[in-house]
Amino acid sequence: MDFKSYIRDVPDFPKPGIIFKDITPLLQSHWALSSAADSLIKDLKKEDIDKVVGMESRGFIFGPMLAERLESGFVPIRKPGKLPYKTLSESYNLEYGTDTLEIHVDGITKGDRVLIHDDVLATGGTALATTKLVEKLGGIIVQCNFLIELSFLNGREKIKPFKVKSLITY
Ligand code: IMP
Repeated sequence: MDFKSYIRDVPDFPKPGIIFKDITPLLQSHWALSSAADSLIKDLKKEDIDKVVGMESRGFIFGPMLAERLESGFVPIRKPGKLPYKTLSESYNLEYGTDTLEIHVDGITKGDRVLIHDDVLATGGTALATTKLVEKLGGIIVQCNFLIELSFLNGREKIKPFKVKSLITY
């Protein structure tokens, strides 16, 4: 399946020098949207996933679609101050400075089998912080999956202990 033809390169977004991978053309096509979701859950139906954990904000697009297909729940990971109930936080380093992600403390029950999903794996900082939040709450990470992997940024290396799958690799 040629998912790559549905991804648009947007130069100099959000900053000069960055080529942003825009997934909206893929979202606009029912065939591409549905086929991508089907491919992301391939081989996972037998894994008894309890929760799909998706990162703000584009992890919220496919996350619930995957959860629905896997008959599991969906748990959002958000930027600080966005989640209304009690949260657990994890900070991680960016090129300049740090960022923090949060999860509701009751989002994962000890022993839950978890699929982590985001649209893009870049440096892996977001994904690594998410794995820490899930594991601190006692979740078992079955797979981390992404629509797009920017392999030249070596994000996969950061989350090496986990099974990583991506549909499109650059
Ligand atoms: P990382 O923490 O460096 O792996 O960055 C991953 C996060 O940045 C994900 O939540 C993505 O949504 C976002 N991201 C990074 N690069 C792109 C891109 O080219 N297109 C869309 N999102 C991106």
